[in-house]
Amino acid sequence: MTTAPEIDPDIRSTIQLPPTDLLIGGEWQPAATGERFEVIDPVTEQVIARVARGRQADVERAVAAARAAVDGGAWSKLSGVDRAKLLFRLADLMERDFRAMTLVETLDIGQPLKNPAAAIAALRYFAGWADKIDGRHVMLPDSNGRPTHTYVRREPIGVVAAITPWNSPLMTGAWKIAPALAAGCSVVIKPPEDAPLSTLYLGALALEAGFPAGAINIVPGYGPEAGAALVASPGVDKVTFTGSTAVGRQIGATASGALKAVTLELGGKSPQVVFADADIERHIPMMARQFYLNSGQVCAAGTRLLVERAAMDQVVEGVARQLRRVRVGDPFKPDTQIGSLISRKQLDRVSGYIDQGRAQAELVTGGNRIGDTGFFVEPTLFIGTNDVVIAKEEIFGPVGVVVPFDTYDEAIRLANETPYGLASVVYTSDIGTAHRAAAQIRAGMVRVNGGASVPSVHVPFGGMKASGIGRELSFSGIEACTVEKTVSFEL
Ligand code: NAD
Repeated sequence: MTTAPEIDPDIRSTIQLPPTDLLIGGEWQPAATGERFEVIDPVTEQVIARVARGRQADVERAVAAARAAVDGGAWSKLSGVDRAKLLFRLADLMERDFRAMTLVETLDIGQPLKNPAAAIAALRYFAGWADKIDGRHVMLPDSNGRPTHTYVRREPIGVVAAITPWNSPLMTGAWKIAPALAAGCSVVIKPPEDAPLSTLYLGALALEAGFPAGAINIVPGYGPEAGAALVASPGVDKVTFTGSTAVGRQIGATASGALKAVTLELGGKSPQVVFADADIERHIPMMARQFYLNSGQVCAAGTRLLVERAAMDQVVEGVARQLRRVRVGDPFKPDTQIGSLISRKQLDRVSGYIDQGRAQAELVTGGNRIGDTGFFVEPTLFIGTNDVVIAKEEIFGPVGVVVPFDTYDEAIRLANETPYGLASVVYTSDIGTAHRAAAQIRAGMVRVNGGASVPSVHVPFGGMKASGIGRELSFSGIEACTVEKTVSFEL
């Protein structure tokens, strides 16, 4: 174990926590059973909050409140312009509380300065859509050839159940709440049990912004309890989930069995394909960042570095050098680059994968826990093949594996030889290679030598294969929260 990072206890004692009850029908309420669960600071391992533990009865109350809001209730009566105003107001309040929200999310997750900028961007982007969702008119004769007045309405899908993971709960929550509300749906959100606080903070600001009762409901709790009850609730019209592929499969099966709409954003094992003709020195920092940021707890992390053999030494040495420089420590210290893993469970999981890596591949750098309090792990690099466990399974820790290739065809085969298909990066100076690879890699996202910092609210986000179903963000996010209805009049 290397030396423990220094912790700043002073800042922790100043952080204002949000309400810790359930938000149902515009009111904070304890769970029906009165139970609470503990939320742990992953850096100090101290309890930071005791949050109401929602179960089926609470979920049913929340869904009933959400139903009432859309089935002729106050929320359903608002125009798109008024929904936009409320979403913009919520974004403004988050901007006002930017520092306080940053402190809460940073404390909850243990990663450096997790600010609400991405969530604010999503609220504003979808606020912009709220008054621009329209239908279309179709020139269609009836069976006797007479003209009709036929049009297609785009209507809110109804009650949206949102379930989010701990790695970026505020951002992923906003990606679900914002399009649903913009489209006129109501929402019941179940934040992750490991990091529920930023979502509860958002709930408090939603009340202050003036959202009608029942438009936004929050039921914290455990996945198999609150989460499963929400997915199964007959009052829910659509389920949107971000989390692991294993849980996504269960949720998808339950939701589809009940013929509910479903969007699933799941895991990944994304390739970074490095051709020897790339400007390698320039891209080394990005290659490393792709799998150490947020301590690798990123679904789109580029954890498989597929490298043309001629560039192996340069890439391995460069990325290892970069990883050794990463400052791991207290997320509240301004120079920290990565903090702690979310939980002991995640530490055990990542350590287990590192042990498998040591047995099946060659360790280049890292591989150790840091300190014995908090769940810190060194950024770690292995050289291996595409068949070792650490190259096949999602680790969700700061661990990358380099796999050599000899030809373009082999590179594409290796990139696609995974059950997942979320993200990818291609590094090359040959524009033809870049476009061919972008077309042939089966993933929801391909970045070439950098590209726009995605995910961005302006473009669709989502995976292929075991990385999920459906798309979030952009107008695709609105489409996913609406249904089309055809209306035809005799003229
Ligand atoms: P998880 O699947 O264990 O939990 C995610 C959420 O689902 C939590 O709120 C949890 O309480 C809930 N849940 C768990 N079991 C449930 C059940 N049976 N029914 C209903 N809800 C249930 O995932 P996690 O460990 O919190 O998050 C890490 C995973 O999320 C990683 O695998 C990662 O790849 C994935 N992820 C994907 C994306 C994406 O957009 N594709 C983004 C972030 C994280």
